[in-house]
Amino acid sequence: MPHEPADLAPSTVAVTAGRPPRTQGAPVNPPVVLSSTYVSTGVPAPGELLYTRGGTETWQPFEQALAALERSTLPALVLGSGMAAIAAAFSLVPAGGRVVLPRHSYQVTLGYARDLTERSGVEVVLVDIDDTDAVRAQLLAAPTSMLWVETPTNPMLEVADLPALVAAAHEVGALVGVDNTFATPLVQRPLEVGADVVVHSVTKYLAGHSDVVLGAVLTDDPALHARLLQHRTVHGAIAGPFEVWLALRGLRTLALRVERAQATAAELARRLATHPDVLEVRHPSLPDDPGHERATRLMDGYGSILGVRPRGGADAADAVTRAVNLWVPATSLGGVESSLERRRRFTTESATVPEDLLRLSVGIEDVEDLWADLDRALRSTRPTS
Ligand SMILES: *Cc1c(COP(=O)(O)O)cnc(C)c1O
Repeated sequence: MPHEPADLAPSTVAVTAGRPPRTQGAPVNPPVVLSSTYVSTGVPAPGELLYTRGGTETWQPFEQALAALERSTLPALVLGSGMAAIAAAFSLVPAGGRVVLPRHSYQVTLGYARDLTERSGVEVVLVDIDDTDAVRAQLLAAPTSMLWVETPTNPMLEVADLPALVAAAHEVGALVGVDNTFATPLVQRPLEVGADVVVHSVTKYLAGHSDVVLGAVLTDDPALHARLLQHRTVHGAIAGPFEVWLALRGLRTLALRVERAQATAAELARRLATHPDVLEVRHPSLPDDPGHERATRLMDGYGSILGVRPRGGADAADAVTRAVNLWVPATSLGGVESSLERRRRFTTESATVPEDLLRLSVGIEDVEDLWADLDRALRSTRPTS
């Protein structure tokens, strides 16, 4: 694949990667090609386009651009959703294998891991991913196929010591898979610190406009790449060409969106920390947040997801979601619009996530408008007597 020059900043790469060759009269954007099959005779050449479930030129620009951002030497593999990408990554775990994963992983990832236990006898061990010693102890306790990492975690915002965990896992021969959805490759690039596999819910920040569901998986290892490509082809959880085109269009503004959202999230966290109706706020930007030191050392920013616990408990949290006018009460995250939800409204969410925890996804609206709406909604939860 054409490689982006290594000296270009990620914000530049997001704009330049995956463009058609600059020839006279060429379009500046790749076209959407709608064809399920390709003209072909004889024994196919390596990499030849044959049939769209195996690959299409409409996927390739996005796959090249995401690889350039994650600094992978091999193209990303786009799939029909983040969960399809996670299922692809977990296909690297053999039947009867062992996986160590964060207690506060994305809840559907945890559900998928439980399915693997039932179907394929995979042992699933849950850990506090920010407790490096505890993770290391579990890696040493029994032969482990894969360590799964989310950092920051969804929705608890724990920050893992990723380089230390990669070293510990590789010492015992375990693969390391990282769900990099929350951070985006602008904030952290797990392959650069030795992770074997990275996945994204492209639905979130990468596409960024809450209008597509899409996923991607990356690896730098040719043998793993071949296995992941084989998984995509035989399971068939592929992406539609329009969705991938939209994701590439969204990716062009990733740096602007992430910079703005992170700055706003840090400012809101600072104000929420002293709000009379807030019991606790979690964001790694706060100097006394448990993840602050690590995030400062390992990440290029603090992300734009906040955890907020109102003083009035779960009822007050629900009331906030009904009282907001600007913030959108909805699940999902990473869109241009700010949104929020109480996570434990899902009975499938981890029981160790507090009942009253609101997860806020900060978008790109004006910070004062966001603050005014949130402040008013929080104040409205006070008992009126
Ligand atoms: C949303 C999400 C997923 C799942 O992605 P889909 O595109 O919804 O399938 C996985 N991991 C994290 C961290 C997410 O936020």
